[in-house]
Amino acid sequence: MKLSFEKSKNGRSFPVLPSLDVPKKDLPGSLLRKSAPRLPQMAQPDISRHYTELAKRTHGVNDGFYPLGSCTMKYNPKLNDEMAALPGFTGVHPLQAPETAQGCLEVLFMAERLLCEITGMDAMTFQPAAGAHGEFTGVLLIKAWHDSRRDSNRVKIIVPDSAHGTNPATASMTGYEVINVPSDQEGGVDLAELRRAVGDDTAGLMLTNPNTLGIFDKNILEITRIVHEAGGLNYYDGANLNAIMGVARPGDMGFDVVHLNLHKTFSTPHGGGGPGSGAVGCKSQLEPFLPKPRVVRGKDGFSFATPERSIGNVKAFYGNFLVTLRALVYMLTLGANGLRDAALNAVLNANYMMKGLSDIYDVAYPGICMHEFVLTLENLKKECGVSAMDVAKSMLDYGMHPPTMYFPLIVKEALMIEPTETESRETLDEAIAVLREIRAQARIAPDSLHSAPRHTVVRRPDEVGAARHPVLKYNFDGVGD
Ligand SMILES: *Cc1c(COP(=O)(O)O)cnc(C)c1O
Repeated sequence: MKLSFEKSKNGRSFPVLPSLDVPKKDLPGSLLRKSAPRLPQMAQPDISRHYTELAKRTHGVNDGFYPLGSCTMKYNPKLNDEMAALPGFTGVHPLQAPETAQGCLEVLFMAERLLCEITGMDAMTFQPAAGAHGEFTGVLLIKAWHDSRRDSNRVKIIVPDSAHGTNPATASMTGYEVINVPSDQEGGVDLAELRRAVGDDTAGLMLTNPNTLGIFDKNILEITRIVHEAGGLNYYDGANLNAIMGVARPGDMGFDVVHLNLHKTFSTPHGGGGPGSGAVGCKSQLEPFLPKPRVVRGKDGFSFATPERSIGNVKAFYGNFLVTLRALVYMLTLGANGLRDAALNAVLNANYMMKGLSDIYDVAYPGICMHEFVLTLENLKKECGVSAMDVAKSMLDYGMHPPTMYFPLIVKEALMIEPTETESRETLDEAIAVLREIRAQARIAPDSLHSAPRHTVVRRPDEVGAARHPVLKYNFDGVGD
């Protein structure tokens, strides 16, 4: 496919900017560019076709089933986008006086109250722009808390081996040493190993529950107690709250800090690098350290306040405001019972699919799963030479996005499936049938799977090449890099 730069024809552009409706200001010469940017010039129909062509080359949740484990690629109600497009929300400026933006402050205030209720936390910030960014913020809160108590020997963060990769990365980015604890037979945290790992150098534990194996750790109260007794704090990675919202609360499980990916569970489309929100909630003892500003309600309405020992800003202004707004609309339209139903359906759908496959695929950790489950294709690979990658790629030929592959790392030839609550029984049945068909194919014609997908525009891209030698800008001169 040709790039827009290659389709460009001089003089073919059309005006897209509205005419000026504010007084014209001249910028200082030092801020002006010396030459015009080399933007592609295309007529409107050509641009429209260009983007449609691009869209056809990929697979989104509007194209079909998208069971990406740990990523919660669910369908999001369009109403939330409609609300986020209202001019009263899109036209507001972050530097506007709070008295003139009371509605927006109320959105932040209400979203904080509702999400605190859902998580069992006391306060929340919406500043972080992604899950990993929320983790970073949350662990800085833990650090600030230990520092405030002059407890400076706590240099280690404990992370189970089933953790999402961002957890150890966060602990290390915030200056901590990462201590790995293995999982036990059932996929939960090995308690004996945890007891061995904690000590007076433990700053905290980072945990996802249910974890990335889709398993709810039944020892959770004991786990958080062990860490608290050692003087550490508990961090809950709530990137996916799909399995438990309205059913169980991290605050009641003994967690002190939690981050939520509003761009997973709470209705902002996820993926593609769009704006996200890694909202961070905490118990009251950590509230004084939260990033500034926070919205408070006084007798004259809503205003901004700086927590007394704030760690400062982690992003400009108030985070991705429209993402928070979508989360609020989602919570208000579903209501308490609706949110709970969403979680129950997410768990039901995952178990339904797991049952529909478990006689022909090996489930890594059998038993009841939560919102996702993990298959291990190790035996299939030994028997037929067909890998998790082959099975995943084959699904594309049936118009379905593959599940997450080769994660979590502790499962060999892993396929991690999260159907989400928004899929109908018919879609789940179809997905089960497809995976069964691929399994049968693996036995009779394994070679055909090595070359899948056959019917997509893009087949097997060179993933290593793309990661190692990304081509990120257009080379106008056509030579060199
Ligand atoms: C997605 C995810 C993250 C990271 O979130 P980003 O917004 O991608 O940074 C962290 N933990 C878990 C369990 C996740 O699924």
